[in-house]
Amino acid sequence: YYDDRTEVFLDGEWIKAKDAKASLFDQTLHYGTGVFDGLRSYNSGNGFNIFKPFEHFKRLHSSAEKVFLKVPYTVEELIKIAYELIDRNNLTNAYIRPLVFAGPNMILAPAKETHVFMTAWKWAKYPGFEPLNCMISSYLKPSPKSTPVDAKVVGNYSANTLASAEAKKLGFDEAILLDHQGHISEGPGSNIFYEKDGELFTPKEGNILPGITRSTVMDICKELKVKVTEKDITPEELYGADHAFFCGTATEITHISSVNGEKFKKKWEDSVGYNIHMVYQQKVMFDEYQGLTIV
Ligand code: PMP
Repeated sequence: YYDDRTEVFLDGEWIKAKDAKASLFDQTLHYGTGVFDGLRSYNSGNGFNIFKPFEHFKRLHSSAEKVFLKVPYTVEELIKIAYELIDRNNLTNAYIRPLVFAGPNMILAPAKETHVFMTAWKWAKYPGFEPLNCMISSYLKPSPKSTPVDAKVVGNYSANTLASAEAKKLGFDEAILLDHQGHISEGPGSNIFYEKDGELFTPKEGNILPGITRSTVMDICKELKVKVTEKDITPEELYGADHAFFCGTATEITHISSVNGEKFKKKWEDSVGYNIHMVYQQKVMFDEYQGLTIV
């Protein structure tokens, strides 16, 4: 993720990644009460474009609020930092990771200090762009009454990491988590859609992270005149689908070829997801953030 020359942003300063330090007593490390986000920068042929930075940093702010952390930078400031980060590291196709973490505190009360870290690394293509053989995880997405599941809280990701590890251990590529009511929720780092008779279906909000790519997919569906329904989805409905795909900033639109060994009928190239993927590829490169002058 970094080498000797990598520069990162930490609490208002640009420093070498290898010199960046955090305390072993930081609350986030022990109790998971930090938040993060993930953005992508794309080579636009004429520089680079960060896709939907406004939406991502707004979510970082709202995630932080939900775990009683305050981000000491505005959304606009964070966007500027992200652009400078890509510039300083001579990147174009990259993944950007802002992290807001709580400082030293060994008790279960809000931490006094908040730190902001941002780094980026080269990311040309999601490594698992191949079709994914998925399994329904034995780990459930926590109830929204246990933790804000609609926020990118560090601690929420222990269930997702375990689900992914379990899937890989059992020979699958990726996991699909059910929510606490037994409905399909999402992948460990992406939302899910399935196709049936030319229409798309996706879990409704409540027990998912409402992804920025998910809403982009819904916008593309409007353009392509594809009907999308948000609803509670049972595993049986997913097994009976014609096709399915994950979507997320890192994963983009990644097709799922099977769930628990049940293969989908439709080929990727013939699916609605494939058309969406083609439009998405154009959008990410050229949907430039207009409000910001980069100097
Ligand atoms: N669900 C989870 C659990 C995620 O971590 C992500 C990645 N941020 C997503 C869905 C997709 O969200 P987005 O499209 O905003 O990246």
